[in-house]
Amino acid sequence: MDTINRLLKKQASKKRSKDQDETDSINKDDSSTNSQIPIAFHYVSNKDGCTLSIPLDVEIPIKFSKGPNYPPPVPICSVSGCTRPKKYRCVNTLKYACSMEHLQMMDTRVKQSF
Ligand SMILES: [Zn+2]
Repeated sequence: MDTINRLLKKQASKKRSKDQDETDSINKDDSSTNSQIPIAFHYVSNKDGCTLSIPLDVEIPIKFSKGPNYPPPVPICSVSGCTRPKKYRCVNTLKYACSMEHLQMMDTRVKQSF
């Protein structure tokens, strides 16, 4: 009976020391992260959830210096008087055309000028 108790105690003590070690290491990590001022965005995702650490000098909501890159507005047909958006581009003049008719118009104009 004595030996069993001793073994149990030993295991218990062993377990406790291991747990203490773990808690110690966790405490260490906590103190280091608390003392460190985040200088970069830090994203952590684990079983407890996810956290995002933001540098202190970043204002919330974040103001991005550059907005999202929307595609530039579609240019309008280069033929005078035509306000339709371009569909084609003339190979010779690099001007825009809304339709094949206007494209050919520009093309013939170029040919005429030569
Ligand atoms: Zn046109």
